[in-house]
Amino acid sequence: CGVFGIYGHPEAANLSYLGLYALQHRGQESCGIVASDGTKLRAHKGMGLVADVFKHDSVFANLPGSSAIGHVRYSTAGGNDFKNCQPIMVDYARGSIAVAHNGNLVNAQELRNELEHQGSIFSTIADTEVIIHLLARAQCDALPDRITEALTRVKGAYSLVFLTETRMVAVRDPNGFRPLALGKLDGAYVVASETCAFDLIEAEFIREIEPGEMILVDKHGLKSFFPFPKSVAAPCIFEHIYFARPDSILFGKQVYGVRKEFGRQLAREHAVEADLVLPIPDSGVPAAIGYAEESGIPFQLGLIRNHYVGRTFIEPQQSIRHFGVKIKLNPVRDLIEGKRVVVIDDSIVRGTTARKIIKMIRNAGAKEIHVRISSPPTSFPCYYGIDTPTRKELISSSHTIEEINRYITSDSLGYLSREGMRAAAGAPEGSGKSFCDACFSGYYPVKFPRLKSDSQLG
Ligand code: 5GP
Ligand code: SF4
Ligand code: MG
Repeated sequence: CGVFGIYGHPEAANLSYLGLYALQHRGQESCGIVASDGTKLRAHKGMGLVADVFKHDSVFANLPGSSAIGHVRYSTAGGNDFKNCQPIMVDYARGSIAVAHNGNLVNAQELRNELEHQGSIFSTIADTEVIIHLLARAQCDALPDRITEALTRVKGAYSLVFLTETRMVAVRDPNGFRPLALGKLDGAYVVASETCAFDLIEAEFIREIEPGEMILVDKHGLKSFFPFPKSVAAPCIFEHIYFARPDSILFGKQVYGVRKEFGRQLAREHAVEADLVLPIPDSGVPAAIGYAEESGIPFQLGLIRNHYVGRTFIEPQQSIRHFGVKIKLNPVRDLIEGKRVVVIDDSIVRGTTARKIIKMIRNAGAKEIHVRISSPPTSFPCYYGIDTPTRKELISSSHTIEEINRYITSDSLGYLSREGMRAAAGAPEGSGKSFCDACFSGYYPVKFPRLKSDSQLG
């Protein structure tokens, strides 16, 4: 998911719309904006893309005020349903509050059971609603204390933006799994999941909000707190591999450069004699450029992408995903015929994408196909907000590299090593010195209260 917030700008809702547009790659299932005019919160939300949900000007007339928050969603916990659109907005004893969440809480179900037992009635199945209930029950008075009290109970990944009638609060969980950046525009404070949102609205990028940091913005300005016990930061390395936009600055580095370095390292680890380096667009492009530079093998755009098709993986139904590859990519026969090609992608999840694309490239006349993946084998599910499938469906959890090579029908297959990935990414900025790489290593920085069957969590 992607979150956005702005406080103290007359065009708050409009700028949120643009911000969400820039964050659209982080979720295409639904989106929404909640704005405040100082006395009342108003929301507009819907299923689908930002451009569709906000296609009528009249929507903005109904979102007056100088502060707003927004969200683009792809489901990890909770289904694909209008009820689960964010920001979630509620009225309670102390007024109104809205929240937009990127991440995934690992103890949401436990907390929910407990709250329901005590009489809470939930209206969504999203883990985020747990935060709202905890907040409504908090004993403290001041808003930051209430939020802290609520968040002290939850475990897992959260980059959150809250909006009340008069205040905006942004929080990043103590491990800092998901990114969250702070910027400024014409004196107004802005927060966004990625800095590409600032670029679009011409806001100045000030810094990243730190793991465990809470920022309160109100008419007095900005205050920063570190209300949680200190934890080792573990930002998600998969943001660098695949999820974030290459033009964003993430955990202290621009994503594009990191992806290129993954490709260079991959070329050092898995060299092969070949005529061409082809990326699987778009996610494989920067790594393929790095691979080509390091190996000296020419880079070519041998697969042409139809840009009017969304990111296949994010579409939740298997049927669309399968159809997706063909609708999305087509090989350039003249380039490929009779050639030995290195095909670069960022990851193999189920293996279906790679298998189909290799078939396509083979049909276009390639003599040899060597697949190189700019991350290690994805063998473990993510519980911190990336929608990887269950362990069973992850091809590398139950197959060797040689078996995967046979399944996808390539002539050879090489993955970036874990050490190579860490070296290429460098140390993340912030209080910790290493990334979360649990989906590759199985080492989970935040343990689960109760490890459920994989299928319950996304
Ligand atoms: P597969 O067919 O192996 O399941 O899908 C792999 C492809 O999905 C890669 O090209 C990768 O870029 C893309 N992809 C899209 N979303 C995700 C995601 O959330 N996780 C991973 N690992 N790959 C994704
Ligand atoms: Fe990111 Fe993987 Fe860790 Fe999930 S498990 S937070 S995808 S590195
Ligand atoms: Mg891809």
